[in-house]
Amino acid sequence: MVAMLNIPRALGAAALGCTLLLAAACGSTAEEPKSAEPGQLKVVTAFYPLQFVAERVAGQHATVESLTAPGAEPHDVELTPMQVASVSDASAVVYIKGFQPAVDEAVAQSGNQQVLDTTSVVPLQTQAEEHDHEHADDSPADEHAEEEGDEHGDEEHEHGGLDPHVWLNPVNMVKITDAVVAQLSGIDPDHASDYAANGKTLVGELNTLDTSYAEGLKTCDRREFITSHAAFGYLAEQYKLTQIGISGLSPDAEPSPARIAAVQQEAKEHGITTIFYETLVSPAVAKSIAGDLGLKTDVLDPIEAITPESAGDNYIAVMQSNLTALEKANGCH
Ligand SMILES: [Zn+2]
Ligand SMILES: [Zn+2]
Repeated sequence: MVAMLNIPRALGAAALGCTLLLAAACGSTAEEPKSAEPGQLKVVTAFYPLQFVAERVAGQHATVESLTAPGAEPHDVELTPMQVASVSDASAVVYIKGFQPAVDEAVAQSGNQQVLDTTSVVPLQTQAEEHDHEHADDSPADEHAEEEGDEHGDEEHEHGGLDPHVWLNPVNMVKITDAVVAQLSGIDPDHASDYAANGKTLVGELNTLDTSYAEGLKTCDRREFITSHAAFGYLAEQYKLTQIGISGLSPDAEPSPARIAAVQQEAKEHGITTIFYETLVSPAVAKSIAGDLGLKTDVLDPIEAITPESAGDNYIAVMQSNLTALEKANGCH
């Protein structure tokens, strides 16, 4: 699956007129740093959910760009020299320290003082305790427990055991929104009342989303769900669900045969109806597990990007689609 993730870069390099260093930006206008209008701020965000918040809070007062191109997998993002320069030049930078090593490095080297690291308001937690309990057949459960430690990414893709996927809990997005309002108001006090009003509108939508989740997932036939990329730990904790991840925190970690067997045992044990996969990564593993057991597959989107395949054109819409998928899979009523 790693090779597949490199396809957009390879296509970019093949395009005429693209230098090797700028290959990642070729064919993607969204990655080219935008020039701000006079009087506008330039806000550089690390990836889509932060871009969404910054755009909504800034409104007309800023151009907002994302360091992760639409459709690119953000965990392993690489930055062009132009993007690294844009981090230095930005009026404001918003990122999650500990999520994207290339972004962490660019921010550290930029000397930019107007940086919001969202972990200052939403600290990263270690991945929720592994789902583990006595099963009818003990041996797969034992393998499950022993295998877990090795499943969370190879040397290249680890987050030091910290789960970066805070944005999948709307309550965390409220805190991030408030922090962006404070950041932009400090940089551009003339428009502070606009940032506050925009922030209030977004917080209202996020609170409505939170209420929909709390009510929609209150009474369900089962609390467990199985997903390819274990991105939903914060969401599961907020709404008292139990996430069973096939891979670890990194989307392209390949599950071992023992892990797949353990997941299949979990599916049987808990009467799972649906194996979830995500839009940016191949559904092959989820589909083969589901096929073996005669289960359905469906998309549970970690919203690391919005693409034409996304089930909505913004964070709120895709979160609502995720809720519908969870309600259906878990027999919520
Ligand atoms: Zn992820
Ligand atoms: Zn279980």
